[in-house]
Amino acid sequence: MTTIAFIGLGNMGSPMAHNLITAGFNLQIFDLVEELTRPLAEQGAMVCHSLQQVVENADVVITMLPAGEHVRSVYLGNENDSGLLSYVAPGTLMIDSSTIDPESARTVGSAAQKQSLEFVDAPVSGGVAGAKAGTLTFIVGANDVAFEHAEQVLKHMGKNIFHAGGIGSGQMGKICNNLMLGILMSGTCEALTLGIDNGLDPKVLSNIMLQSSGRNWALELYNPCPDVMETSPASNNYQPGFMSKLMLKDLGLGMEAAAKSQSSVPMGALARNLYALHNANGNELLDFSSLFEFYQSKSE
Ligand code: NAD
Repeated sequence: MTTIAFIGLGNMGSPMAHNLITAGFNLQIFDLVEELTRPLAEQGAMVCHSLQQVVENADVVITMLPAGEHVRSVYLGNENDSGLLSYVAPGTLMIDSSTIDPESARTVGSAAQKQSLEFVDAPVSGGVAGAKAGTLTFIVGANDVAFEHAEQVLKHMGKNIFHAGGIGSGQMGKICNNLMLGILMSGTCEALTLGIDNGLDPKVLSNIMLQSSGRNWALELYNPCPDVMETSPASNNYQPGFMSKLMLKDLGLGMEAAAKSQSSVPMGALARNLYALHNANGNELLDFSSLFEFYQSKSE
């Protein structure tokens, strides 16, 4: 039976790991916050207490970590600890599904290739709901052989698996997507607030825009106005979901990429600044749809 080491069991990692257990893989799991491992242990995963232990006898390693610095330190090590590249067996396939800067993905990828190990960057889109349902979109950066190997595992957690190009290209595709998502969420909050301020019912307005040219993912699956959509974080006190601090990180990655390629990103820059202000007001741990409250505050 294939053994998978899964590292990072937060909002996304836990449901992804759950789907792999359901698909019949043998799971070894590790998170710095050990209590996050308990529900998966009850489903049969083996809880590990170090990077060395979690990758022992693993055929595949999957990481789902917050940002580039965590990924670099988990794979390459830091001043205190060795990274998992010191411990994995030859032939291990490594899949990083975190959203990070393409440069970090390429740095880890080339260190892995020097050891004849396969590495792919495979960030995801689809949110916690997509992770739970096993319908994530994976945007993969890899060589052709590693892509084919990764696909055999990713298909148990996702519905659409795209090969964006070589290592780092998955991250670039994801960064473009989230630049657009940040802009769309800001616009959705803005339009809904304008309607409410002018006497419209947000449910009625949402339905109007869903059948009109303002339709978008945030409006359709993730309505930011409380009580419009029962299942959205907005109707659950903005519990994440996708934290505002992670959206700010992703929009920052978009700005870094744009600076390198000298691309114009005025809308993305505006969305990044909105999230920076929103987070500075104490909302960084709330779901990113809580930006809706930023627009509400003006009328009080
Ligand atoms: P999260 O903060 O809920 O989970 C990250 C987990 O990594 C935490 O449990 C943390 O304890 C663990 N971790 C951090 N450093 C570690 C280390 N050195 N060793 C072991 N565990 C460590 O974040 P999330 O929402 O699950 O997002 C994970 C990644 O996926 C991020 O890069 C995010 O941008 C991306 N993403 C999130 C969503 C979403 O809707 N939440 C959607 C798409 C992509």
